[in-house]
Amino acid sequence: DAIERAAHVAVYSAHEDRLYRRRFTLLGDFSAALASGDQLRLVYQPRIDIASGLCTGAEALLRWNHPTLGAIGPAEFIPFIERSRLAQATTAWVIDTALDQQQTWRQQGLTLQLSLNVSATNLLEADLAERIVAALDARGLPHDCLELEITESAIMEQPAKANAMLETIAAAGVHLAIDDFGTGYSSLAYLQRMPADVVKIDQSFVRELEHDERQQCLVRAMIALSQDMGHRVVAEGVENDAVLAFLRQAGCDEAQGYFFARPLEVVDFAGWYVSRLVGQAQLLAGGQILP
Ligand code: C2E
Ligand code: MG
Ligand code: MG
Ligand code: MG
Repeated sequence: DAIERAAHVAVYSAHEDRLYRRRFTLLGDFSAALASGDQLRLVYQPRIDIASGLCTGAEALLRWNHPTLGAIGPAEFIPFIERSRLAQATTAWVIDTALDQQQTWRQQGLTLQLSLNVSATNLLEADLAERIVAALDARGLPHDCLELEITESAIMEQPAKANAMLETIAAAGVHLAIDDFGTGYSSLAYLQRMPADVVKIDQSFVRELEHDERQQCLVRAMIALSQDMGHRVVAEGVENDAVLAFLRQAGCDEAQGYFFARPLEVVDFAGWYVSRLVGQAQLLAGGQILP
């Protein structure tokens, strides 16, 4: 794709040239990363139930430590990996790695719902649902311990096919979330048709909510609308207690963001989880909840 584009553009700026080169390099190196076993890892960001203050789940987020270029974020590499022939292998790696971790957590007594991000092209793989169910069953994990996050725009690329796949996944008992809600162009029409359990309001609406009354109106409406249609609502990008207080008042179900925790390394997760639980238990007697 990048090659073709580069070849067809007769005149392009030095900046674009550098960008294409970097993408070539990254695309080429990503197969090696998938094979290497130590360049890729998942970090896990906690999700908090607003009413109880407890961590109820975590979202797995991909990290790439490139051997010479260093840390590269998914916002840079996912957009072109997901359009490449590596899309399927990448998601397969994420599923296996995250479910291995989920199995370990369950053995340690941590019951979390685990969320994974899935790309548009993944929804067009005929056997995606089958592979996910097989991966869960092979580890003896209940299907509802997994949630797939899908963006509206991913679905809208091929709505009929994507929706058929989502129906199959939902029928198997795996949860579905609409990610980055509000940034797509189909929001409302789609909201009522998609078999989603959860709507995740995009962080661009949430991050500076406390200063912006119009934004607050919008978020209140998004929460009410989603809940009326039977979805739970998660706010992404909660960075301070003012935003959390607003969300609590607006009846939002769950929250995720730097205010609670950044995406955590596996070695830090259980410790974080337990200290949150202990903190909450200490407040319980007084009828209080952790911020
Ligand atoms: P997303 O699924 O919407 O994930 C949320 C992103 O917001 C994450 O960025 C997370 O680190 C960041 N974030 C969380 N809380 C806050 C906050 O309070 N403030 C701010 N400013 N940011 C916050 P990350 O990890 O860089 O991931 C970016 C995107 O890359 C994800 O957006 C997702 O679309 C994609 N991605 C990440 N991992 C995977 C993966 O395994 N597979 C696929 N297909 N996409 C992935
Ligand atoms: Mg997500
Ligand atoms: Mg999101
Ligand atoms: Mg996003």
